[in-house]
Amino acid sequence: MAILKCSIREGSGVARLAAWKMKSSRIAIVFGSVIHLYGVSRKEFLANTAWVRHEVRHVRQYREAGLWRFWWRYVTDWVRYGYYNIPYERDAREAEGNPLELEGVEIR
Ligand SMILES: [Zn+2]
Repeated sequence: MAILKCSIREGSGVARLAAWKMKSSRIAIVFGSVIHLYGVSRKEFLANTAWVRHEVRHVRQYREAGLWRFWWRYVTDWVRYGYYNIPYERDAREAEGNPLELEGVEIR
């Protein structure tokens, strides 16, 4: 199985903006293979396995679609279905319960 490499950026400005937009005190948002965190430390995030699986699934989605195609789909689906029902989000929520999700994943 190919290794999926991800990295984490704490105290990210873009995540801070997303937290404000989502009215959330802590947030993770993925761009490509980088998981941007705001309001949560790397250690706290990594201790939350379901959350890590969710964000890693977004990294896989990016990998499959490519950066711009992912974003185009994500944003148009948000407008069309609302945040909760974005197919990429439904898929990521399903991944939260999948123990195989983190197999072959390397988080730097
Ligand atoms: Zn998500």
